[in-house]
Amino acid sequence: MTEETGTDYIGSPEDAFSVLGDETRLGILLELAQALSDGDPGLQFSELRRRVGVEDSGRFNYHLDKLSDGFIGKRDGEYGIRTAGLAVVSAIYSGTYGADTGEHTAESTWLCPDCGDPLTISYERDQLFLNCEEHGAQLGYPTPPGAYQGRSLSELATVVLKRTLSGVNLARQGICPRCWGATTVDYPRETEDSEEEWADYETHVSCERCWYGLEPPLRILLASVPSVQGFYTEHGHGLGEIIFGPQSIANADTCQVACETTDPVTATATIALGDDTLDVELDENCRVTALSSE
Ligand SMILES: [Zn+2]
Ligand SMILES: [Zn+2]
Repeated sequence: MTEETGTDYIGSPEDAFSVLGDETRLGILLELAQALSDGDPGLQFSELRRRVGVEDSGRFNYHLDKLSDGFIGKRDGEYGIRTAGLAVVSAIYSGTYGADTGEHTAESTWLCPDCGDPLTISYERDQLFLNCEEHGAQLGYPTPPGAYQGRSLSELATVVLKRTLSGVNLARQGICPRCWGATTVDYPRETEDSEEEWADYETHVSCERCWYGLEPPLRILLASVPSVQGFYTEHGHGLGEIIFGPQSIANADTCQVACETTDPVTATATIALGDDTLDVELDENCRVTALSSE
């Protein structure tokens, strides 16, 4: 016989906030997540209370009860953490600032897609920037301090790029990388500069529910397509070089984008590396409908 409680769901973001505004409750989530990573998906009341360090069992029970609205569950007399609880623990770690490496700016081996000059990496106010002296920020991305811990700035830049592209890859397929909600992609996004090439137009990627939203150029969206990444890898280019290498996808000699139809919008991108080309066909939601290489 399985006794199962704690299958309630968090009613609203405000409810979640009020539940989490307590040190003991955060301690419970941290201990249950640690237990899970040690191979214990559940802990008995007394063991959990001992680990969190609360003496009063009535008070401890009160806090467990609060967390039972979505963050923890009880099964066969043991408490375990649920996915929303794990997300809280991950957010705590990502926001925790560790040892400062003392590094505030560093030279990168990556190049500005506009002029080919080396980019400078900097980290300030929870954002990582890749700057060109002449062309300004080529990438600015929200990066929690926990990401910087134990990494050099150039390692951090690689981490940010990988995370950005894998997030864009999910969002392009309709999945929010932050809240699991639904995303939409509009392209080409209307910009004020009518002189711009169609291929240089931006896209608008947004989550229908949370804060996630980006306006990447269409070419950057293409850099998130796994087959495009594979094509670059086959030609000896790392992930960073897709955007910031001598044969950047942002370069019109390397990547041509043509609008095929306007209502609905469809497009074909042709990427040329060495003697090879890769054609990527995109539908109205910027999803890949066909790939062909020569
Ligand atoms: Zn530049
Ligand atoms: Zn979202």
